[in-house]
Amino acid sequence: MPELPEVEVTRRGIVGPLRGARVLAVRLGKPLRWPLGRPPEALAGCTVGEVTRRGKYLWLPLEAQSGAQGGLLLHLGMSGSLGWWTLAGPPGPHDHFDLVTDRGTLRLNDPRRFGAVLWSRALDQAPAAVLLARLGAEPFDPALTPQSLHAALQRRRTPIKSLLLAGDVVVGAGNIYASEALFQAGIHPALAANRISRPRAGRLLAALRTTLTLALDAGGSTLRDFADVHGLAGAYQAQAAVYGREGLPCPRCGAPVHRRLQAQRSTYFCPSCQKR
Ligand code: ZN
Repeated sequence: MPELPEVEVTRRGIVGPLRGARVLAVRLGKPLRWPLGRPPEALAGCTVGEVTRRGKYLWLPLEAQSGAQGGLLLHLGMSGSLGWWTLAGPPGPHDHFDLVTDRGTLRLNDPRRFGAVLWSRALDQAPAAVLLARLGAEPFDPALTPQSLHAALQRRRTPIKSLLLAGDVVVGAGNIYASEALFQAGIHPALAANRISRPRAGRLLAALRTTLTLALDAGGSTLRDFADVHGLAGAYQAQAAVYGREGLPCPRCGAPVHRRLQAQRSTYFCPSCQKR
């Protein structure tokens, strides 16, 4: 599943080509998770602004020739990836959204169709505002500090790994990155969030930022089918310390890495380096 680093890698690949591009047409394939919410032909003639990201959502601002503002909120779902084509060929069976512009075509390929592209008048209006309302802090937001993270963790008894996955305190720690950040911080994944001390909350925040930075530098992770907008796979998963390494030696102490199921997701950890 594309996580925050993969979505950010995607954003960086399209922000330049799309800035100032004029929409010529929008083509829809099979239904995605939610309907577009606007007739596709109404988007022709709009100019695309600066593509931004919030959590795992991308926001493509659009300005109509009349000056009316709006935009497309885009989510890659379970299996989506965006491609940028200067000259796009005919859509394949899993291509369900094309934004055809005077610079090239942005194409969403999504075999499982849990992805979504939907129109919203603004980020702070429905439907965008409703979808973004539950999101936790951005991991690189300077307002997120060891103190504020610790305070948020104090209010929750959920195991820290599950809390990170839920994304309502801090976004960005999907399964692979939550496992890696907890390993780097030396925190056991099953530890209740409210039992994490203030210094350990600080180590967790630093580990999360380091892990996500490494993932961004590596072009994200490709576990199954993620690719950037030019079709390149991510490489972060190869440098993971514990994720996907059950039974292999912990890079720090040599003990075998354990795997356990937590909320139906595989969690990888080192029982001797990660303390409760
Ligand atoms: Zn270890």
